[in-house]
Amino acid sequence: MPGTREDTGISKQQWEELAAAAWECRENAYIQGDTRVGAARLTGSGKIFTGCNLEHIFRCHDVHAEVNAITSMVAAGATDLKAIIIVAECGLFTPCGGCLDWIFQLGGPDCLVACQARAGGEIRVFTAAELMPQYPRY
Ligand SMILES: [Zn+2]
Repeated sequence: MPGTREDTGISKQQWEELAAAAWECRENAYIQGDTRVGAARLTGSGKIFTGCNLEHIFRCHDVHAEVNAITSMVAAGATDLKAIIIVAECGLFTPCGGCLDWIFQLGGPDCLVACQARAGGEIRVFTAAELMPQYPRY
């Protein structure tokens, strides 16, 4: 069942490390509204990159936490996205379509996408393809 898988190729400890990094980065969120979001990415070589959301007064300029983490990863010279976790005190907070575009481009349909609604809470893991099953394949 999507979101409840046990065998992700990433240990429970690694998921917890990713989640902790995302919650820490979330504290730096620059927001206009109420929703702070953090994200942490794991590359194939085991490096972690984090991001938080930045909200502009002209909301069309908002930068989502997932994209912020991707830009940090690419700026550091890495493009091998293996997994991402998104943390927000907002129930099941999955990436928007724009963020999934980036996740598909750098991680492919099998990229692991996890969500956590509170620090230390359940980590639900999906693949990008499970979140957007009709996504075009190039
Ligand atoms: Zn987004």
